[in-house]
Amino acid sequence: MRPPSRCYTPDSKSHYNVPQDSSDHAKQFDYDERSSSTHGFPTALYDDLHTNLPTDVMQFIDHGFPESTPEYPSRCHVEQYVRSYADTHDLHRLIQLNKEVVSIKYDAGQKHWECKVQDLLSPGLLPKLILFDAVVVCTGRANHPYIPDVPGLRELAEARPGCIMAAREYRRATDHCGQFVLVVGGAFSGSDIARQLSYTAGNVHISMTKIEKDTDSETDKDMPVVGVDGCNPHNMPVTHPRIECIMPKEILFTDGTAMPIPDRIIYATGYLYVYPFIDSNNPQSLAYRLPTHRQHANNELPEAELPPFTDGHKVNDLYKYLLYIHNPTLAIFGTPFRIAPFPFYEYQAHYLAHVYKGIVLLPSAEQMLDEWNKLVAEFPGKKVNEMGMLQIDYRNDLLDTVDRFSEAKSDSGKRLHRVERGSTWADRCFNTLVNRKRHLGY
Ligand SMILES: Cc1cc2nc3c(=O)[nH]c(=O)nc-3n(C[C@H](O)[C@H](O)[C@H](O)COP(=O)(O)OP(=O)(O)OC[C@H]3O[C@@H](n4cnc5c(N)ncnc54)[C@H](O)[C@@H]3O)c2cc1C
Repeated sequence: MRPPSRCYTPDSKSHYNVPQDSSDHAKQFDYDERSSSTHGFPTALYDDLHTNLPTDVMQFIDHGFPESTPEYPSRCHVEQYVRSYADTHDLHRLIQLNKEVVSIKYDAGQKHWECKVQDLLSPGLLPKLILFDAVVVCTGRANHPYIPDVPGLRELAEARPGCIMAAREYRRATDHCGQFVLVVGGAFSGSDIARQLSYTAGNVHISMTKIEKDTDSETDKDMPVVGVDGCNPHNMPVTHPRIECIMPKEILFTDGTAMPIPDRIIYATGYLYVYPFIDSNNPQSLAYRLPTHRQHANNELPEAELPPFTDGHKVNDLYKYLLYIHNPTLAIFGTPFRIAPFPFYEYQAHYLAHVYKGIVLLPSAEQMLDEWNKLVAEFPGKKVNEMGMLQIDYRNDLLDTVDRFSEAKSDSGKRLHRVERGSTWADRCFNTLVNRKRHLGY
């Protein structure tokens, strides 16, 4: 029997607009009475969810999964694992649950962050103002679904309310018995959902971007492509390329083929970077006006040059994917994707702790901006956050930077180590789909 879950929200809906293709268009969460287990925050977990990474790749460096855990565990195992991590490190004394940060703003005169925090158990009370020296944002990536705009989509959403949903809302295949379903997106969630639906839905179609396996891009090689493995052999999903447009009675694809409008279209096309508690179009409310101390003295940039904090596809001006260049007392965790998140965060935390302790000194704002702009030029749009194999170089860079500054101070994090591209960890990370097929059959 499964242990009770406090993260899974069995009957809640996520909130979004159709289309939803930029942070300005993203619908903000409302308090949702149906998600009582998480006090209004429906999560992205679906019932029969197993990890796409093996335990030894996804676990924190100093905290293994219990021996008895399957190699590709269920969401319940992962929830237990995260709880045991919190228990081991006594994190409960630091974490305040059921408190939502509703706004943050930097007071450059007082040199502190003003954070307004709402107690979700007392929604009638006004948010409390709390002051902090630094803010580290760890609100996750899977909150606001990205639903690309295609001609006719808006009209379909208006004409057929409930026809369009996001993978974030998907809970179980039995909710779609006998339905005619199109899944949009063939990455991890889309391919898994199409596979599950092949056992219950009447007809399953999947629209996905074709991935060229011989591409030069290192990250594209890690992209999963939906396969026949594990699908119902009597009801195989029919694959299509991208949607070109939606007509009143049919969906046209980029190869000129068409299909009738299905009962459900499930968008598994990823997520937007949205931070409802940050006034993205007013980045001055986050930036330094006055330098606070020596190594930050150069960080003042003219206000007029500041871009919005995020456009939905990336956070702007983020040094080492972590520090807001115009005020490094603001850090954003976990913006890259196609990574092994838990160990990745450990390296980010290690680096950040050394910056905030004053051991690692930051370059000037101009140098940080220059480094970031080079990355954005090399990997335009949301590609800048897609790491794959590059996560190894990134983790090593964070570690090396700390070590360079720590040599004389014997404060180096020896717990963490360099990862090599040919290591067992790297092989198991990048060949996970082959390995998972052996264990789970898909
Ligand atoms: C379908 C699916 C499958 C996945 N499979 C894997 C996998 O196999 N392996 C893997 O390693 N990763 C997987 N991931 C990624 C996984 O979500 C991340 O590894 C992990 O959850 C990221 O942790 P996080 O703490 O950054 O974000 P989250 O787990 O999203 O946690 C963010 C927390 O912040 C809280 N929060 C949000 N806004 C506020 C606010 N304003 N104030 C206060 N609190 C707030 C949220 O309630 C939440 O508790 C999967 C994700 C999805 C959606």
